[in-house]
Amino acid sequence: MIFFYGTRSTHLKTAPLDDPQIQCQHCHTAGSMTMSVFGKYAHFFWIPLFSIGKTGGTQCNHCKQVLRKRELSPQLKTTYQELKSATKTPVWYFSGLILLSALIVLPLLASMVFRIFG
Ligand SMILES: [Zn+2]
Repeated sequence: MIFFYGTRSTHLKTAPLDDPQIQCQHCHTAGSMTMSVFGKYAHFFWIPLFSIGKTGGTQCNHCKQVLRKRELSPQLKTTYQELKSATKTPVWYFSGLILLSALIVLPLLASMVFRIFG
């Protein structure tokens, strides 16, 4: 079954965790982790409608272990919050809403202009 609507996510940002204090929980290699932020959006017929927040996690470049947001240590969660707030939601996440409002607002504007000048 094909879903014409739902949610999708795209990669927004990856930052290295080069603090030697940060170790991989799995292989204990220091400074081997990167943290990524992904944006989620609702789509309808694959047209992004609006943003529904961000998610993310870390990956160890040594042992390739991936940790999701909820699996992060409190220290890494703080780092994640900082990276997340430094990551902007792309404007195209709202393409559908912009398109819809343009479709609603433009005819209204046009009819107003016609009423004033017509
Ligand atoms: Zn590792």
